[in-house]
Amino acid sequence: MSRIREASETVRLIDHHCHGLVREDLDRPAFELLATESDWKQPAGQTIFDSPIGVVFRAECAPLLGLARHSTAEDYWAARERLGQQGVSDILMRETGIGSLIVDSGFRSTTILGVDEMRERFGYHAHEIVRLESVAESIAVSTTAPSFADDFGAELTRRAATAVGFKSIMAYRYGLDFDPDRPTDTEVREAADEWLSRADRERPRLDHPVLLRHILWTAVDLAKPIQFHVGYGDSDINLHRCDPTQMTEFLRRTVDSGAQVMLLHCYPFVREAGFLAQVFPHVWFDTGVVLNYTGPSFRTAIEHALELAPFSKLLFSSDAFGLPELYYCGALLWRSGLADVLGRWVGQDQMSERDALRYVEMMGRGNALRAYGLADE
Ligand SMILES: [Zn+2]
Repeated sequence: MSRIREASETVRLIDHHCHGLVREDLDRPAFELLATESDWKQPAGQTIFDSPIGVVFRAECAPLLGLARHSTAEDYWAARERLGQQGVSDILMRETGIGSLIVDSGFRSTTILGVDEMRERFGYHAHEIVRLESVAESIAVSTTAPSFADDFGAELTRRAATAVGFKSIMAYRYGLDFDPDRPTDTEVREAADEWLSRADRERPRLDHPVLLRHILWTAVDLAKPIQFHVGYGDSDINLHRCDPTQMTEFLRRTVDSGAQVMLLHCYPFVREAGFLAQVFPHVWFDTGVVLNYTGPSFRTAIEHALELAPFSKLLFSSDAFGLPELYYCGALLWRSGLADVLGRWVGQDQMSERDALRYVEMMGRGNALRAYGLADE
């Protein structure tokens, strides 16, 4: 085995964007729903096992579940059902080689394992990312329009004390073509009044564009990394408004803020993200989610990600949600793709082996340690 492949396979990864695993056993439609970003169950006669991600599960996870590589969908599902969600999680999570998780705790938080549970169950280090919109929604029952800004600021500061960063889902709730101006106090009060008077206080959904900008700027003031959902995602995004270059003016205005901007997923805007990471000192990115979802084409996303940005700005993530398969395959494909691309460059004498080994370590964990200000662990 080449030294580059060995380094890629053994680097103790920091997964800088992921979510908890589902607690309970899943039936097949629920499992298939978690293996797509679609919000609809698979149409009749169709299964995710015949999509790129399903082909990867059947190739890579099947042997760990006691099946032959490239098992049929039926055999895979039968083994998964026999072992149960807990059993499959125990097997696959042992084999990821991930050392630390940076977990987005703000989505469907009751049905999935929390940050502490992920740490305790699987022995990983685990850190929390706080979702800005969820924090705003959590104060909707108790706040008032005149006190919204202060109440949100206090609650975010409280939550930030134990978190390593924030996440913005501006892309879902508005689009990345948001107004880059910081709203005035009067605008925030009026917007809070509008939102609180129409919001369902039991299940509030923050979608007021002025408040979305306000909570973002409040996070900027706290000078921690802010993750942005970019590009590919559930069916409630408008993909053409999730190109990260749409927030170029916001990036310009936050260069010196101390906040780091972490662009997540980025598909299909991988090259746009690479450009932004090159020209703005506080912009970083990953192509997490798409490795799993593009399945056998994963090398293409890795190649595009490596085209332009400094290697000191790229991070690893699995964007796993719910299924241990996503953690296992996310790590495996990243390791394999990086070894393929860097190995080829070294073979063609375009990069030294010494540099390639350094870059594997940086992209696998060192860059995340720097971006989030973590002690080595
Ligand atoms: Zn995610």
